[in-house]
Amino acid sequence: MTSQGLRTHTCGELRASAVGAAVAVSGWVDHVREMGAALVFVDLRDRYGIIQVAFDDSVSDALRAEARGLKPESVIHVGGSVRARPEGQVNCERATGEVEVLAESLEVLSAAATPPFEQVAEKVSDELRLTYRYLDLRRAGPTRALKLRHDVLLALRKSLDAGGFTEIETPILTKATPEGARDYLVPSRVHPGKLYALPQSPQIFKQILMVAGQDKYFQICRCFRDEDLRADRQPEFTQLDLEMSFADEEVVLAVVSEVIAQAVAAARGEAPAMPMPRMTWHDAMARYGSDKPDTRFGVELSDVSALVKDSEFGVFKNCVAGGGVVRMLAAPGGSSAFSRKDIASLEGVAKEYGAKGLAWMKVGDGGVLESGSSKFLSETEAAALVAATGAAPGDLLLAVADSFGTSAAALGAVRLELGRRLDLVDRDRLDFLWVTEFPLFDRDEETGALSSAHHPFTAFEEQRPGQLEDDPTSVTSRAYDLVVNGIELGSGSVRIHDSDTQQRLFRTLGLSDAEIEDKFGFVISAFRYGAPPHAGFAVGLDRFVMVLAGEDSIREVIAFPKTAQAADLMVGAPSRVPAAQLAEAGVAVLEPAAAGKPATAGEPAAAGGSTDG
Ligand code: ASP
Repeated sequence: MTSQGLRTHTCGELRASAVGAAVAVSGWVDHVREMGAALVFVDLRDRYGIIQVAFDDSVSDALRAEARGLKPESVIHVGGSVRARPEGQVNCERATGEVEVLAESLEVLSAAATPPFEQVAEKVSDELRLTYRYLDLRRAGPTRALKLRHDVLLALRKSLDAGGFTEIETPILTKATPEGARDYLVPSRVHPGKLYALPQSPQIFKQILMVAGQDKYFQICRCFRDEDLRADRQPEFTQLDLEMSFADEEVVLAVVSEVIAQAVAAARGEAPAMPMPRMTWHDAMARYGSDKPDTRFGVELSDVSALVKDSEFGVFKNCVAGGGVVRMLAAPGGSSAFSRKDIASLEGVAKEYGAKGLAWMKVGDGGVLESGSSKFLSETEAAALVAATGAAPGDLLLAVADSFGTSAAALGAVRLELGRRLDLVDRDRLDFLWVTEFPLFDRDEETGALSSAHHPFTAFEEQRPGQLEDDPTSVTSRAYDLVVNGIELGSGSVRIHDSDTQQRLFRTLGLSDAEIEDKFGFVISAFRYGAPPHAGFAVGLDRFVMVLAGEDSIREVIAFPKTAQAADLMVGAPSRVPAAQLAEAGVAVLEPAAAGKPATAGEPAAAGGSTDG
């Protein structure tokens, strides 16, 4: 038998069945309560729970005095026996509440200084929690999150292993990869002037593994992207990355659905309904105004352009005449729920997404439209709009007239805001959704530049030869996303696997042949030596665990997260390094002002900036 070390039991495991047993427990002092001169209670905590330890007059006065003087968060070791608590003193809120340890001995293993915040305190700033993350992680919530994360990762690994996948590690020091974000760069002492990039994802390596015959690859890996951060982004994050040879969309969707379902079952005891529903990108945009729709509630958007194209209402009519789209939705009960001020703030949401305004009208008795823009609409138009949106008396019709993209995005954002304000979302639900048939490219409205909507290795369907070159934005990709509750959980695609098509795609993105050779020559070359058709996917594991934990920020499910300024407040990273070390790495550092940054950037300990996303 292995040694029990300094404990025979954890603090959380003692129950009535142990009454009478001699035990040794070790943990952190949660609380000390003095119950008169002859009795001191110490609540002792570890990650399994809390046990009450009683020091009564069976121990010496000196030992009781020592117990009385224990500082919270000190680590102690107690020897004693388990006894039942008297009837009136059972604590039903605690799993160990029927028993206590009657102490016989006490040893302080590590006396704690006064902690910077109390474990039970509610209002502790994120800065303080992250600076003293080891204290924060002692709480039950973060402990549960870390265990949940472990359970999810284990379930994913088991399920992929059972499916014949091999976990293969790929390099961290590598070359810039094209996921569309900025790279983190690492100087090289051995090659002064040259830099490695940290992988934004193992995309190229996993494709090369397919060329290398490793037909079912997966990896739980860290990815690095130097992006502006939000609540659900971190500069380094964890992906479940996978790739399969001889697979198409159907195979990947089935494998990923199954793996995700098993992880959900491990975390929640119940797997989601299968098969997971699917929607094309076009339908998602048209019905929900988003490529990651939250389908936990209705309030769908309708394209009413055809119904208002001849309207007296210039905003609608001119929009349609100019090739735009008028989209409308019915906010249930919105006529009475929202004041003018509320409607103005909803308009503010639409404007944040580029809309010029938000038209509104109330649906009165008998479905008659009232107030707002209703005066510009004929009775026939009004009736048609009520029918198209499925509105009922008391609803509020809201509309955005703009381009396809802006009208969708703006009214889609208003829809999500309505979901929050009208409390339409059931937070216990997990609504998975596959979104398919994305456009291959995005075009930057200002610069006109094309970029890959997914990444440049994504295969595509041309309706006619040459469509890629003549009309790139009309080409549909073979990419797919998995969405849960309006959050993008992951994405993937069937890949290009022949060098000519890959070269055509790079050229369409504006890369010269020299640039293609410099950046991706090795991929193009690998594809010339027998490349199997292949497809893959990557799941954002921080987000997945966040959703399963019912949290709103991925920071809650990461042991040592960074702030919104990409700083680690506990270790104080990033930090300056000695000049000699810089010289050795061949690096000259611009002072913040020269790099166009405020002086506090990169000085996390001093900056103490907000950690909100
Ligand atoms: N590498 C992609 C990403 O990180 C996922 C994939 O296409 O497999 O988004």
